[in-house]
Amino acid sequence: MDCLFCKIVNGDIPSKKVLENDRVLVFHDIQPAAPVHVLIIPKKHISSMNEVLEEDLPLIADIHQAAQQAAKELGVDASGYRLINNCGRDGEQTVHHLHYHLLGGTRLGALVA
Ligand code: 5GP
Ligand code: ZN
Repeated sequence: MDCLFCKIVNGDIPSKKVLENDRVLVFHDIQPAAPVHVLIIPKKHISSMNEVLEEDLPLIADIHQAAQQAAKELGVDASGYRLINNCGRDGEQTVHHLHYHLLGGTRLGALVA
C-alpha cells in the first residue's frame, strides 16, 4: 500500500522515534509547528478518524496512553500540550493514515484554526 506512515512503521522511510510498542509509534514531525511537535500513529493502517471501527477503540486508548508518555518524555507534561486530529478535506488532513499531532513547548493560543 502506498502510505507514507505505513512506510515509516515498516522502516522503509526513516523517522526520529520518541517511543514505540507493538501497536503505536510516536515520532517527530518533519516540519515542526511548535518547539515540541510529534505524531502519534497506530501501526495498523486506518485512513482517518472516519474509518475507526468499534474493534479499533482500544487502539485509541493506546494512542492516548502513548501521548501521555511522550509528553512526559519530551518534558511538556507539566507545562501542557495539545493533541490534534485532522480529518478529511476541511480538517486539512494531508496524510491518510490516522495520526494525532502532539504540540507543546510554547503557549499555543486559544485556538488552532
Ligand atoms: P496532517 O496535515 O495530515 O494532519 O499532518 C501530516 C503531518 O505529517 C504534517 O505535519 C507533516 O509535516 C508530517 N509529515 C509529512 N511527511 C512526513 C515525513 O516524511 N516524515 C515525518 N516525520 N513527518 C512527515
Ligand atoms: Zn498507512
